[in-house]
Amino acid sequence: MSTGSCSSVGVVGAGIQGVCIGLQLLKKDIPTTIFDSTDLKERASYGNAGHFSPYAVLQLNRPDILYDIPRMLFSSNGPLALKWNYIPKMLPWIARYLKNCNKKSMLHTAKYMNQILDLSMEAYEEIFQEIDTTNLVEKKGIIYIWTNRNLKSRELEIKVRDDLGVKQKLLSVKEILDLEPNLKPVFSGGVYFDYASHARDPGEFLKKIFELFIQRGGKFIKENVKSVSQISAKETLIKTDSKEFKFEKSVIAGGAFSKKLTDQLGEKIPLDTERGYHVHFKGMDKLLNRPVIFLDGAFGMTPMNQGLRAVGTVELGGLENPASKKRIQYIVNCAKELLPQLGEHEDEWLGFRPTLPDFLPVLGPSKHNKNIIYAFGHQHLGWTLGAITGKIISGILTNEKTNLDLSAYSSTRFS
Ligand SMILES: Cc1cc2nc3c(=O)[nH]c(=O)nc-3n(C[C@H](O)[C@H](O)[C@H](O)COP(=O)(O)OP(=O)(O)OC[C@H]3O[C@@H](n4cnc5c(N)ncnc54)[C@H](O)[C@@H]3O)c2cc1C
Repeated sequence: MSTGSCSSVGVVGAGIQGVCIGLQLLKKDIPTTIFDSTDLKERASYGNAGHFSPYAVLQLNRPDILYDIPRMLFSSNGPLALKWNYIPKMLPWIARYLKNCNKKSMLHTAKYMNQILDLSMEAYEEIFQEIDTTNLVEKKGIIYIWTNRNLKSRELEIKVRDDLGVKQKLLSVKEILDLEPNLKPVFSGGVYFDYASHARDPGEFLKKIFELFIQRGGKFIKENVKSVSQISAKETLIKTDSKEFKFEKSVIAGGAFSKKLTDQLGEKIPLDTERGYHVHFKGMDKLLNRPVIFLDGAFGMTPMNQGLRAVGTVELGGLENPASKKRIQYIVNCAKELLPQLGEHEDEWLGFRPTLPDFLPVLGPSKHNKNIIYAFGHQHLGWTLGAITGKIISGILTNEKTNLDLSAYSSTRFS
């Protein structure tokens, strides 16, 4: 064992966080078992836009967005939607979120997102060396475009990134069209993160990391976890629907589903979900050279092996409501506005971003059970943050010293 003592770990969740944590633990020779009850397609890590976005320091808790929310909500054709039957349950989350839409909180979140985003790609580079990424990871940059409807918001984003030293290149309409000649020029400007990369099939990429975990001796149990508890100073207990398993330490990395388990541990962590959707336009991936995000519509398109993946919207509606046809239609309409040559879409998919009302993840020991570690709440950036989360959490499990200030990610900020 390379560092501090840990004889075994159980990890709940085989999304990108759980699998990256598992891989890091095996590197430290710690026997690790991952639990997950679902198939790959049910994970947020399967259907996301695939962007590795180390530049995305600014989150949705911002004063400027606060003023746009009423207009967005009451337009059936906007990027934000509610499932009204779920709103009473989500009111405490919404109240906390609105409280966080101020400059101080926005800058706090940006600072602590930047701290981990800054290390995110270095952490992935290690994984890129260990799996075959041919036709799976492309480094062609990512472009954000916009009209001049919300220029104040665009200026704010550019300034916050500048202040935090994030590299960005502003683009004119002509420069955007030079890079992406098929786009209909309905936009008035944009920004280019030329060092960014994307996955051409997040599901396949996740599968490869998972297979590496298994090849290296990791165990996987396909069962629903009913509870995680600490039963003594050196023992935690994971109870599935059919059995019980003991590990020295356990990790809850269940994405948007983590709250069921943390509620049992005497903590009221206000985790909820921002639902998002994707569709594919088969054979149309060649229309774009790289991912393009249209900020006015909060949607994007990524060239993938399945075709052109159109992704987006934020729908507040919990984990149980069915998918909304209107949201799918919204994404299809947005995609066709930019690329009128698109035909029929396929593969409608709904996924659950795990989001806390201050838009920071929870990374660290649970409040009352120090051998149960949390790793969830990565909202729109969980794909980017998988590898670095693996490193941070494996370090916490082995009591490694770190130069990072992890206090901002503690669950105790909600108590
Ligand atoms: C539409 C959309 C687009 C996105 N685009 C991007 C992007 O471009 N870039 C980016 O960085 N991020 C993006 N994200 C966010 C990113 O996908 C998520 O933040 C990330 O995948 C979360 O990973 P996770 O491992 O925490 O959760 P998941 O991938 O959801 O995995 C959690 C797993 O835990 C399992 N689980 C939970 N509880 C239990 C239990 N009790 N028992 C057994 N198993 C359990 C679940 O079944 C699930 O398989 C996007 C998300 C969406 C929805």
